[in-house]
Amino acid sequence: MSSTRAECEGDGLSEFMQSMKVLPKMVVLNLDYTVWELHVDMTIQPFRSDKKGGAVDWHGHKLALFPDVRTIMTALQEKGIKLAAASSTTDPQTSRQLMAVLKIDKFFSHFQIFPTKKFKHFKNIQSASGVEYKDMLFFDNMEDNISDITTLGVTCFYIEDQAGGLTMDRFKTGLEQFSHKHSQ
Ligand SMILES: [Mg+2]
Repeated sequence: MSSTRAECEGDGLSEFMQSMKVLPKMVVLNLDYTVWELHVDMTIQPFRSDKKGGAVDWHGHKLALFPDVRTIMTALQEKGIKLAAASSTTDPQTSRQLMAVLKIDKFFSHFQIFPTKKFKHFKNIQSASGVEYKDMLFFDNMEDNISDITTLGVTCFYIEDQAGGLTMDRFKTGLEQFSHKHSQ
């Protein structure tokens, strides 16, 4: 029986994670241009699933996760690392619906999706989960959020080029930075 490309990549990531001295207890992901290649508040409902596990909006515009995101979420779940969403979209309801249509909502234990400062999202995630800031790894494409949340002691990775979103390389680099910081 042949394995799919995603399974092969997933296996590679699992080994990579195994090789890290210290892993985060929780990963926090921004959504727009980190997890998916769109601004949720620009999409038009209703959404429908397509055959490839993606979705399209009412205009037929593709609503897609960045290619490595599902593999990354699966690996986190397998390792028992919690996953939280932190997004300041002005359309939280649509965001949650898109997570459901793309079948990624099952990976998350905490959702902070409403317009506010990232500090507020993190304060809520911290108190609801009990995970300390130092044990969190955060990915976002907004530089201001990265500077703010770094001050809490969270390890933060800035996704500079929003065309790529959360790629496998960026995820691995984030894990390396986290492990390095905690092995000193
Ligand atoms: Mg964003």
